[in-house]
Amino acid sequence: MISKTIKATVLGSIILFASCKEEQKTEDKSMTENILLQEWTGPYQGVPAFDKMNVADVKEAVEKGMELQLQEIDAIANNDEAPTFKNTIVAMESAGKALDRVFTYYGILSSNMSSPEFREVQAELAPKLSEFRSKISQNEKLFQRIKAVYEASQKSPLEPQEQRVVDLTYKQFEMNGANLDAEKKKRYAEINKELSTLYTKFSNNVLHDEENYVTYLTKDQLGGLSDGFKKSAAKIAADKGKEGMYAITNTRSSMDPFLTYSTERELRKQVWENYYSRGDNGDEYDNNQIIAEILKLRKERVGLLGYDNYAEWRLQDRMAKNPENAMDLMLKVWSASTARVKEEVADMQAVANELGDNITIEPWDYRYYAEKVRKKKYDLDSDEVKQYLQLDKLTEAMFFVAGEIFNYKFTPVKEGSVPVFHEDVKVWEVTDKDSGKHIGLWYLDPYAREGKRSGAWATTYRSSTTFEGQTNVLASNNSNFVKPAPGEAVLVSWDDATTFFHEFGHALHFFAADVKYPTLQGGVRDYTEFQSQLLERWLSTDKVINQFLVHHETGKPIPAELVEKIKKAATFNQGFGTTEYLASALIDMKLHLADPTNIDIDQFERETLDELGMPKELPMRHRTPHFGHVFSGEGYATAYYGYMWADVLTSDASEAFKEAPDGFYDKAVADKLVKYLFAPRNAMDPAEAYRLFRGRDAKIEALMRDRGFPVPKN
Ligand SMILES: [Zn+2]
Repeated sequence: MISKTIKATVLGSIILFASCKEEQKTEDKSMTENILLQEWTGPYQGVPAFDKMNVADVKEAVEKGMELQLQEIDAIANNDEAPTFKNTIVAMESAGKALDRVFTYYGILSSNMSSPEFREVQAELAPKLSEFRSKISQNEKLFQRIKAVYEASQKSPLEPQEQRVVDLTYKQFEMNGANLDAEKKKRYAEINKELSTLYTKFSNNVLHDEENYVTYLTKDQLGGLSDGFKKSAAKIAADKGKEGMYAITNTRSSMDPFLTYSTERELRKQVWENYYSRGDNGDEYDNNQIIAEILKLRKERVGLLGYDNYAEWRLQDRMAKNPENAMDLMLKVWSASTARVKEEVADMQAVANELGDNITIEPWDYRYYAEKVRKKKYDLDSDEVKQYLQLDKLTEAMFFVAGEIFNYKFTPVKEGSVPVFHEDVKVWEVTDKDSGKHIGLWYLDPYAREGKRSGAWATTYRSSTTFEGQTNVLASNNSNFVKPAPGEAVLVSWDDATTFFHEFGHALHFFAADVKYPTLQGGVRDYTEFQSQLLERWLSTDKVINQFLVHHETGKPIPAELVEKIKKAATFNQGFGTTEYLASALIDMKLHLADPTNIDIDQFERETLDELGMPKELPMRHRTPHFGHVFSGEGYATAYYGYMWADVLTSDASEAFKEAPDGFYDKAVADKLVKYLFAPRNAMDPAEAYRLFRGRDAKIEALMRDRGFPVPKN
């Protein structure tokens, strides 16, 4: 299933800078003094000095890193020798290492440890970074060399990975305006600069509204809430100076359980409204005007390249190829999911009536009554399930799966031997189970804290490449579990456990990479969620259930009846889950297909949802004013559909395991999985890689079955 948290693969810096790597030849004063620029030292091929990073160093480090990279790019562009694969493409792949290092710290300071101080630096740097990228992507001499190598390769092809890196590099430059004339190029760069400022403003506004709308409860307003939830709410309130009260913060991890369990309907409404109004409060932090500006600039920019709309430009190198294919898939599933919502609402209304609640189901009631229906229909109590889902055991379970499928072994590194940016972060060494060969390090930052963005994500500090010798992988997983009181186990919901596995899937995708050049690490947006979504499936395998899903007090494995119930309930509430997701994905696509002149975002959202027949009982998963996937950058712009695109592959691929003699632990299928679907990353066309794994293209039927929707004829 598609999980409910933000699941961004933070390939940001990889994608952003893939085309502009730079060799670091010069060592000058600020290089040696500024810790963020320095080569990583210590064990494991060197590790980031997270214990020494400082916001005060960021500006200088980024500026110096950009300067170094531009010098290197100029050297490549002005080379007197005729352009070759080696002196142009390989040289570019090798460039930008200092800035890459800075961006490892930058990523932590923006996602894990943000502060008002950092956000100021970030806002100041955003337009400069954009200008910097434009200087590379619009470097005429550089592009002419790339073009020469590309054209030569069309006559006499290079070996496959070399050819792929040439194709991707050329395409990326072309898509980013390298073939434009001077005047258009200038406007192109201006637009990008304006956009980068708007993206930063957009995300800072959302963060502001997440931090500044807290609902404080008194002791008599805690009806329905679990002890664990109350304890952590009390702690958060105390930390915010409201001793004796209980804080519901304006994030998904706080909102979701509150709306599921609280018996206080008016408070549910308030928490719901706070959450779904982020960026939409009509004040100086309102994002509606910013979004309209972003859409106009995006359309103008792709117009310079001759495209009619942003979606058409964006999807040309994706698995979906064009907006029509993506829309077609979404609408096929949409009618089934909204039909299912009607059934779910009817079930909930019946429960509410039985309870004598005398209400009509509103959006802030959905989670609450869905939970009641779940208990009644499936006799499944989410809180009972939680007693068997301990974070530590789930971590062990993931290591077990990684051992079975990837042949990896995870060993905790000696405390203090690898620097971390917060005491909660733990590090493991990853090795091959048989040969003992070192593969990399896995960093886990599990708990929510102020300044950490919500949701869960995975990222790399270093990726595996071989063109300059084998590098190891430094990968991280980041979540927002509520930190328990000392000595208590972290108990998580089934959904959160699923997300935990999901993000680990991204990490495994990083560890398993077998590619030569950095550019081949890049993710294809509608494909890159597939590997992680597939990994979720191992959570409900018998081997994991029997060994790792044990009660936090008694240590007894989860009872078979409870597992049966979980499996039976797997399609439960799919109307809600699929519809709230698809509503966001459809709005994302339609906003970018629309004419943005005089667009009123609020009105557009409302009217489009009406036209689509959006059920009034639930909201979009991410309403437009806080849809960070799409408007805090371009990562998921016209790409949010990608989760479902990838899920078609996920369902279809997991049927390959189900059909195999040893099911999800079948060695032959696992080998093919690693070989074709994990190791190549973007070194191979995803559609071709999938065919090598499955012997055919993926079909939609498995997805419909998984969600309990009627399977379409033909
Ligand atoms: Zn993901």
